[in-house]
Amino acid sequence: MHRSTMQSPALEVRGLTRTFGRIAAVSDLELTVNVGDVYGFLGPNGAGKTTAIRCMLGLIRRDSGTVRVFGESDLTAARRHVGAIVETPAFHAWMSGTENLRHAAAYAGIPRGQVEGEIARVLDRVGLTHRAIDSAGTYSLGMKQRLGIARALLGRPRLLVLDEPTNGLDPRGMAEMRQLIRSLARNEQITIFISSHLLAEVQQMCNRVGILSAGRLKAEGRVEELLQAEANAHTVDIDADDQAVLLAALDNIEGIERLGESDGGRIRVRTTGSVAALNRQLVEAGVAVNALVPSARNLEEVFLEVTT
Ligand code: ATP
Repeated sequence: MHRSTMQSPALEVRGLTRTFGRIAAVSDLELTVNVGDVYGFLGPNGAGKTTAIRCMLGLIRRDSGTVRVFGESDLTAARRHVGAIVETPAFHAWMSGTENLRHAAAYAGIPRGQVEGEIARVLDRVGLTHRAIDSAGTYSLGMKQRLGIARALLGRPRLLVLDEPTNGLDPRGMAEMRQLIRSLARNEQITIFISSHLLAEVQQMCNRVGILSAGRLKAEGRVEELLQAEANAHTVDIDADDQAVLLAALDNIEGIERLGESDGGRIRVRTTGSVAALNRQLVEAGVAVNALVPSARNLEEVFLEVTT
């Protein structure tokens, strides 16, 4: 392989735009997925995730922008490096898991002599060998998703693009899917791009995330960096004897943003000053402060902040 290709990001999107009539589904999208990333593509329903993925895979046309996969801008040529599941994978219900994969292998251009070995490998990888002869119509949703991953793994892709892979799965199914994705990244060095609106999932699985809202990328970075963003701003939960007095005092302090209540019923705020300064200002305003607890941001707060 060409040296420059080896060093290129797995996926590089620049200025990607796609409109449907009046709806700008994706606007000027820029994102970079590095080799080895498990990248979480987050966004609320209708944010444009599926449209962006379809454009990135060359399944639908884009109005403008460039997409490079391992440095390759010809997406048809790049496709041999990519395995994908876009929305819920569809299978022929009357055909067995193996037969469905044979069909897909022929379509993917896997050489005849390698098909059976390749099918056995991917079925084993997703833990479906024991159900391979049963018709796909009898599979549970979790098994269908795993068969979808098996299909995406045919031909040993270096990049796996998964659109909402845990959608509709029960907690055990989600945990199994998470484990499978982590293991593919770790043990087989496959770069993974996952779209999701499930923040906890992404926080547990991904090293980098991009947050999409109304077709635009609002934030991108390493999960730890996004969680520590605004290092000089602190989220603090406050407990006071008299909440009305506390709220009135907070209204008069500069650099305070009210974030609602914490799970324990404390008042959550973000302050651009120090926690000590906030404590002093509250006491000076006559608030009897019982507790002032710095709270770690979670991805959900970052998400809500950038998508509203
Ligand atoms: P979800 O999480 O609900 O799947 P999403 O982030 O994947 O949402 P998209 O499905 O990409 O979002 O939709 C983005 C916007 O583009 C929506 O307003 C949607 O109605 C619109 N859209 C998507 N596909 C089409 C289409 N084929 N024709 C018209 N509008 C479309």
